[in-house]
Formats: sequence, structure tokens, C-alpha cells
Amino acid sequence: MSYIELNDVVKEYKSGEIVTRANDGVTFTIESGEFAVILGPSGAGKSTTLNILGGMDKATSGEVIIAEKDISDYSDKELTTFRRNNIGFVFQNYNLVPNLTAKENVELSIQISNSDADVMDVLKQCGLDQRADNFPAQLSGGEQQRVSIARAIASKPKLLLADEPTGALDYETGKQILKLLQDTSRNTDTTIVVITHNTTISEMADRVIKIRNGKVDDIVINDTPLKVD
Ligand code: ADP
Ligand code: ADP
Repeated sequence: MSYIELNDVVKEYKSGEIVTRANDGVTFTIESGEFAVILGPSGAGKSTTLNILGGMDKATSGEVIIAEKDISDYSDKELTTFRRNNIGFVFQNYNLVPNLTAKENVELSIQISNSDADVMDVLKQCGLDQRADNFPAQLSGGEQQRVSIARAIASKPKLLLADEPTGALDYETGKQILKLLQDTSRNTDTTIVVITHNTTISEMADRVIKIRNGKVDDIVINDTPLKVD
């Protein structure tokens, strides 16, 4: 069985009379340890899919199986526990705690997740050992995203989900962030899923799931993903 299996997932948002079908029968699998990209234009349903994968939102119908557990019927409480025990999130706009230093942001994640990770090891791994005592506002965008990734890695998640992690960064900085994610994927058994509208990013992935109009358009397995250096 694959690590992630989505079977015919439908997600509808209702506001008054208006129903938006953001996912319209999404089916795909992702293997354990893969670096997968969900690629598609704005409005295609990528964030919706990621939110459902991470237990942040519930599907209207369909199956969401992660590590052989069907989370589609989980209660809100079960989903919270599931998120805490399994998932690390990285956001486009970093979402760091502004009044905590880089080190304290990562320490908070270690505490919350009950992880045995060493904060300085994680910061070093993310190229941040010289920035440990800086507050987010004192860091560049690329460095803030590194803290965000360090925070996610520190919880030793089985699944790391990233929503347009390079969306707010220039090309070169974005490339370094992708290198960090690719290295993390190679050096740990963490499964990584990145959503993006950037086709260049998809060349670095083991698996590319293309989404359009709430449906899977194509799935490409990359035997020789582009290595970032
Ligand atoms: P993407 O991440 O590919 O840009 P989204 O999953 O964010 O796409 O959105 C897919 C569609 O669902 C869009 O038409 C969007 O406007 C709509 N949508 C997303 N979230 C909501 C929401 N909370 N309420 C209503 N419509 C939503
Ligand atoms: P991004 O492309 O930067 O990830 P999204 O378009 O996916 O941004 O939307 C960001 C947030 O806004 C998501 O939480 C999504 O659910 C919500 N959202 C998107 N479209 C709508 C909408 N039409 N109505 C309400 N909320 C929306």
C-alpha cells in the first residue's frame, strides 16, 4: 500500500447559494519517502488538496488514506492529534512567531511535538547556525523560510507539506530552499509534498501530480529528478 492514497476526493465550498467544487474526484498515490510536487495553475485546487492531506480540512466525499489509516472519517480532535504526530507544515509566508528568535521558533516546535531533535543540529542542517539568535524581522525571506523548514523538520514529521514555499522568494534563493527540501527528502525518510504553479520546481521531484480544474490531469514519475546544487 502506498503511503498516501487519495481516492475520488471531492471538496465543495458552500457560501450561501454558491457552491465551488475545488476538488472534483482527485485520485493519486504517493510512496513513502518521495519528494512529490502537486503542480497546477492558480485556482486548480492545489491548496485544497494539501489541506485535506494534512488534516486541516475535510473532504466532502472520497477516501484519504495516510500510513494505512483512513483519515476521512476522523473527528476534529482526531485530526488535531494526527497533525501533531505526523505532519510538518511550511507556508509561503513562513508563519514564524515574530517575538521568538530562530532558535526559539524551532524549540517551540520540538516542545509541542515532543521531539528528541537537537535544536542546534537542526539549525545547522538548515544553514542557520549563525542566525540562531535573530528574530524573524532580522532575517531575509530565504532565511525565514529556512527557519520555517527547520521548525517543520525539528518535529521529525513523517510527512512534510509545503504550500508554494518559494512563492515569495527570488529565483536563486528559491533554488536553495528547494535544495534544502530535496536534501531533507534524501537524508531522512520524511515524505515531502510541495504545491507549486512553477514547472521548474517539478523537475526536481520524484513524482509530479498535475492538477487542473479540480481534477488530476497527469502523473509523471521522474526517475532522474534534477539535482539542485
Ligand atoms: P490553488 O491552490 O490551486 O490556487 P485552491 O485550492 O486554493 O486552488 O482553490 C480552488 C478553488 O476553490 C478556487 O476556485 C478557490 O477560489 C476556491 N476556494 C478555495 N478555498 C475556498 C474557501 N475557503 N471558500 C470558498 N472557495 C474556496
Ligand atoms: P495560495 O495560492 O497563495 O496558496 P490560495 O488561493 O490557495 O492562496 O488561498 C489561500 C487561502 O484562502 C486558503 O486557505 C484558501 O482556502 C482560501 N481561499 C481561497 N479562495 C477562497 C475563496 N474564494 N473564498 C474563501 N477563501 C478562499
